Amino acid sequence: MAVERTFIIVKPEAVRRGLVGRVLARLEGRGLRLVALEVRQLTRPLVEEHYAHLKEKPFFPGLVDSMVESPAVLGIVEGPDAIEVVRRLAGPTNPVEAPPGTIRGDWGLELPHNVIHASDSPASAQREIQLFFGPGPGAGR
Ligand code: UDP
Ligand code: MG
Repeated sequence: MAVERTFIIVKPEAVRRGLVGRVLARLEGRGLRLVALEVRQLTRPLVEEHYAHLKEKPFFPGLVDSMVESPAVLGIVEGPDAIEVVRRLAGPTNPVEAPPGTIRGDWGLELPHNVIHASDSPASAQREIQLFFGPGPGAGR
């Protein structure tokens, strides 16, 4: 068990619906700690770089649109095995398949609107923290 940092985005549609507090409460309630948090209007180039590995997917244009249509909330979350723990709290990508009790299963319904992004590996976490928060002490405060 290693203390890790992972990167999350409360997606714009969930911010518009007023779900930020409830989503963050799930993470904090589990024992994870927020080490950075910011409301930010994302730009198209940044989102395209973040999701570059999905560029050829048919859903890519709609995904990018959904991430820039209003502000998102970006965070860095720290705790034991934080990367896997947050992915499990988020639940499966498709909210229809996400079980109740998961963030996506409780508050998502239709792709691409699945409430939260969470890094899927240590390499992704490091890359995404750097991409969104830049270099800095401890890779992002
Ligand atoms: N997505 C979509 N349709 C799909 C698969 C994914 O709209 O069939 C969107 C969804 O918002 C997802 C994002 O693309 O969160 C990134 O996809 P990925 O496969 O990385 O899923 P995640 O890591 O978010 O679970
Ligand atoms: Mg992913």
